[in-house]
Amino acid sequence: MTEFNFLTRRRFLWTASAAAGAVTLKGCTLTPPSPSDLSPKAQTLSLSPAELPETTRIKLGYIAIVESAPLIIAQEKGFFARHGMTDVSIAKQPSWGAARDNAELGSENGGIDGGQWQMPMPHLLSEGLITKGNRKIPMVVLAQLCTHGNGVAVANKHIGKGFELNLAQSGAADYIREMKKTGTPFKAAYTFPKVNQDFWIRYWMAANGVDPNNDINLMAVPSSQTVANMKTGTMDAFSTGDPWPYRIVRDKVGFLAVLTAQIWQYHPEEYVAVRKEWIEKNPKATKAVLKAIMDAQMWCDKPENKEELSRILAQRRFFNVPPDFLRGPYAGQYQLGDTQKPENNPELAVKYWKDGKGSVSYPYKSHDLWFLTESVRWGYLPQGALSEADRIVNEVNGEKFWREAAQEMGVAQADIPQQQTRGVEKFFDGAEFDPAKPQAYLDSLKFKSLKA
Ligand code: CA
Repeated sequence: MTEFNFLTRRRFLWTASAAAGAVTLKGCTLTPPSPSDLSPKAQTLSLSPAELPETTRIKLGYIAIVESAPLIIAQEKGFFARHGMTDVSIAKQPSWGAARDNAELGSENGGIDGGQWQMPMPHLLSEGLITKGNRKIPMVVLAQLCTHGNGVAVANKHIGKGFELNLAQSGAADYIREMKKTGTPFKAAYTFPKVNQDFWIRYWMAANGVDPNNDINLMAVPSSQTVANMKTGTMDAFSTGDPWPYRIVRDKVGFLAVLTAQIWQYHPEEYVAVRKEWIEKNPKATKAVLKAIMDAQMWCDKPENKEELSRILAQRRFFNVPPDFLRGPYAGQYQLGDTQKPENNPELAVKYWKDGKGSVSYPYKSHDLWFLTESVRWGYLPQGALSEADRIVNEVNGEKFWREAAQEMGVAQADIPQQQTRGVEKFFDGAEFDPAKPQAYLDSLKFKSLKA
C-alpha cells in the first residue's frame, strides 16, 4: 500500500516534535529498528507425535491496522514456528474486498486460507452473502484479535460544532440535521460496508438521535481516497482503525471525535477466521496456529513489549508509519478533538489478551450474535435471520478450538471463560443487549431499518 507514504522527512520531524509536546512520549527515536533490536525467534517447543501439526503451512491475510498485530507478532517473534508452524505466510491485503476475494480462492489457488476479519464477514462468507455467485465459503472463527483501537475522525471544518461522544447534548446532532436541510448532508465513510466500522458510526449517530439512514450519507470509500476527500472538504468523517485516526489528526486533516472504546467499552472488534475446509483437514495445525496467536496476544499486552511492538508494526513492510503513530493508541493516549480534553487512560487502549471484562482472545458466541442482530437492525440481513442466528453462530464460531488450545498450552483456568456468552452488554447511551433476547434489543431501538 502506498497510502502511508505521506510525510516528507522534514514534515515528519516537525509533526513528531509537535506531538511530543502534546502527549508524553518516552524514547521518541526516529531511527528504524536494526535487526539486532528485535528479539531472537522464540525457541521451538519439543512437540510430541500427537501434537505434530498435519501441515506446517498456512497463508493468513491481514490489513495494516492495529487489529492485525497478533498475526504479525506471531510471525515476527517466532511463535508460529514455536508451535511447529514453520511455513506460515502473512499477506498484507490491499483492501477488505481483496481479503474476501482471496479467501474465496484459498491458498492453493493463489489466495489465502483465512486471516483477519471485520464482523460478521466470516458469517457472510459462510452463508455466501458477499461472494461471487453467492458461493458459500464456510469459515471458522478461531479467536478475537483485539478490543478498542477504532474511532471516528471528523474533518477540521467542523471544529467547534461539538463533535464528541454525546452529540445530542453538545448540539452537534442539531448541526448534522441542519446540514441535511441545507442540501449539504454530512458524509461519512468506512472501508467496507455492513461490518464493524459501519456499525460503530451508525450506533453512535443513532444513539444521539441522528438517523443514519436519512440524516446523513454513509458510504464505503478506500482509506486513501477518504483522507484526500477530507482534505478537500468533500468528506466529513471517517470511521476506522488505528493508526488511521492518528494519521488524520497528525496530518492536520481532521480530529478524532469519538473512540469505539467510549461507545462500547471492551467491545468485540476484529477476529481471526480460517476456511473450514482447511481446519477439517488440519485440526492439530489449527490449534498450533491458535496457540501462536494467543502467545502473541499475551506478548502484545505486556507493558514492557509496547515499544518493540510499535517498532515492529511501524516497519515499511507492515504499517509503514512512524512508530509514534502507534505509541498513543497502545498507551490509551488520544488527542480527542474540538473542545475535548486529551485522554490518557490505559482502559481506552487497544487490548489483545485481556480487558476489564475478562478474555479478549476468546470468541464469545454472544458477540457473533450481536453482529448478526445489528445486521438485522440495519436491514443487511432479513428479520428471519434472527431465527437462524443460533445455527449460523454455531456453524461459524470455533470456540471449542480456542478452549482446547488454551488448555493444552496451560492457560490459567481463570483466563478461560466458563460460558460461551459474555452476558448482557451495555452501551454508552444506556442501551443493553441481552444475548438471550436479541429481539428485545431490536424492539428497544428507535432507529432501525428492518427488512422482511
Ligand atoms: Ca476495526
